[in-house]
Amino acid sequence: MGSIVQLSEHVSNQIAAGEVVGRPASVVKELVENSVDAGASEIAIVIVDAGRTLIQVVDNGKGMSADDAELCFKRHATSKISTADDLFALVTKGFRGEALASISAVAHVELKTRESGVEMGTRVVLNGSDTGVSEASACPEGTQFAIKNLFFNVPARRNFLKSDQVEMRHIIDEFQRIAMAHSDLSFRLQSNGSDLFNLQPGSLRQRVVAMFGSKYDERLVPVEEATDVVKITGFVGKPSFARKTRGEQFLFVNGRFIKHPLMHKAIMKAFEGVLSPGHFPLYTVFLEVDPQRIDVNIHPTKVEAKFEEDQAIFAILRSTIKRGLGKHNVAPSLDFDTELSISIDPLPSNKILEEPQVQINPNYNPFKSTGSGRSSGSSSGGSMSFGVGALEEARLDDFFEKESEVSEVIESTEAPKFFQFQNRFIVTTQGENLIMIDAQRAHQRMLYEQYLDEGKGGQEDATQKLLFPEPMELGSADTMLLVEASEVLAKYGLKIEERVEGGIEIVSVPTGLAGKLQDCVDSVLEALRDGTWSDEEGRREKLAAVWAKAAAIPKTKRLTDEEMSAIIGGLFSCESPATDPWGKSVFTMFNAKSIDDILG
Ligand code: ADP
Ligand code: MG
Repeated sequence: MGSIVQLSEHVSNQIAAGEVVGRPASVVKELVENSVDAGASEIAIVIVDAGRTLIQVVDNGKGMSADDAELCFKRHATSKISTADDLFALVTKGFRGEALASISAVAHVELKTRESGVEMGTRVVLNGSDTGVSEASACPEGTQFAIKNLFFNVPARRNFLKSDQVEMRHIIDEFQRIAMAHSDLSFRLQSNGSDLFNLQPGSLRQRVVAMFGSKYDERLVPVEEATDVVKITGFVGKPSFARKTRGEQFLFVNGRFIKHPLMHKAIMKAFEGVLSPGHFPLYTVFLEVDPQRIDVNIHPTKVEAKFEEDQAIFAILRSTIKRGLGKHNVAPSLDFDTELSISIDPLPSNKILEEPQVQINPNYNPFKSTGSGRSSGSSSGGSMSFGVGALEEARLDDFFEKESEVSEVIESTEAPKFFQFQNRFIVTTQGENLIMIDAQRAHQRMLYEQYLDEGKGGQEDATQKLLFPEPMELGSADTMLLVEASEVLAKYGLKIEERVEGGIEIVSVPTGLAGKLQDCVDSVLEALRDGTWSDEEGRREKLAAVWAKAAAIPKTKRLTDEEMSAIIGGLFSCESPATDPWGKSVFTMFNAKSIDDILG
């Protein structure tokens, strides 16, 4: 007897579901895209428990006939293509006819749908297998899907889901991508009974503002170009508003959200030189290309795409954005409107003071003064012309006096045993060793250990109350994330309060972060989005690390001697000076032997 059997449709759907339905967000994506494909102008999404309990999508699209309402759950059931050739001229989002088959294999599904002009609609109920109920139903025009108990029959996948916060963040990401691509449609997203988004149809600019907040209006720079290969429209954010989080970057090809590292690079290249390091500009850019010249089908969830003319599009995209930025006179030096936060700074102990620098040049030769014509003749290397009158004699004394003062100063502080290399590394010696320290990483390590300590003990001195609470203009999704985490954050010095007029404000910040509110909040949002936000210890470390990163000096910075000596001293009194909070080496060391070894 042979051992090969053909899998039942149900089993193969469950396997396919693993590809199509990774998490609640993928269900939301598939259902909402179907609604868009069905020509809906209004789409409402209701989520309960980050999609574990309920995902409901209601649209006013063209609806389905009674036959289609049953057929749509069959594998490879699609109304969108009929031959393989159709794949190359695709205008709809879906086409594989797999989504509903996959979803219905791993959840309880209820569908109600009615075509326009037809009196009765249809209700179909499926409970994770191919036997279900189908009956006539008086329902509104359009289609409603309710997906309940997702992964009820796939415990491995259910257990694999992250916290509600993380899953909800993924849902919001998918929602924003689709809502951004279709500003002409109205979208509503509810989670556990409250509205996260209620977006009215409008222009792309209006959509961005409705999604991220009214302050975004002044931050947007339009970009536009039409060539034979590609048509480009959209907006990029002014560089001065770039944030330390990647969340606000959208690239669409023919109305479909894609991730395309090369095109992302083209956009980032256009920002070269006007962006602070570690910051990400907002962009929402739409490319239109001939559907025949693009392949969007190289990935099951279809967020990747392959262009035939990617090099040409790269160049056009980069120059279009560069030109857009130029046209709007966007250079960092011209932006005087960045907000400054006012706060009383109690001068934290770790703060490295910037001392006004007095430069003394011991080689200064007062007789080489220009323009007077007194010192004729030789002006090369140290030799002076001694046509000395009374005045010049006085100056000569003065000069020698100054010079001896200078050498005294140098002696009293000892000749400095460190210097900075490339505005990044501090080169110094300790005993037998030559040490090169990455200044930014060292500073992060120092701050990290300090924040960790403060998080452990009483927090009152670790937090700095702002004189005026600082309102934060964030999208409703980010606001929700912060509000949910506010109790934990307060423990570590970041106090957030909800404002009566909506939104949130920052009341206190961890020491040393007062001038970097946006960075501080962005780094917290990054931490909330990834999965490491779990146990107490993990949270404490994560927050200390992200705050250290936000508060640390930039990667390249000219340091004063005082700053260098503060970093050297601070670093080597740390518990683990060798690595930064992210595990990267802080310094490297050489001694005579290792140098001999290198020299061979
Ligand atoms: P695909 O979108 O790849 O065609 P799906 O499994 O997502 O596959 O959907 C199968 C079919 O069900 C679609 O082709 C469409 O005909 C129908 N359908 C799904 N959702 C809707 C909806 N909201 N309104 C109308 N028809 C729908
Ligand atoms: Mg689909």
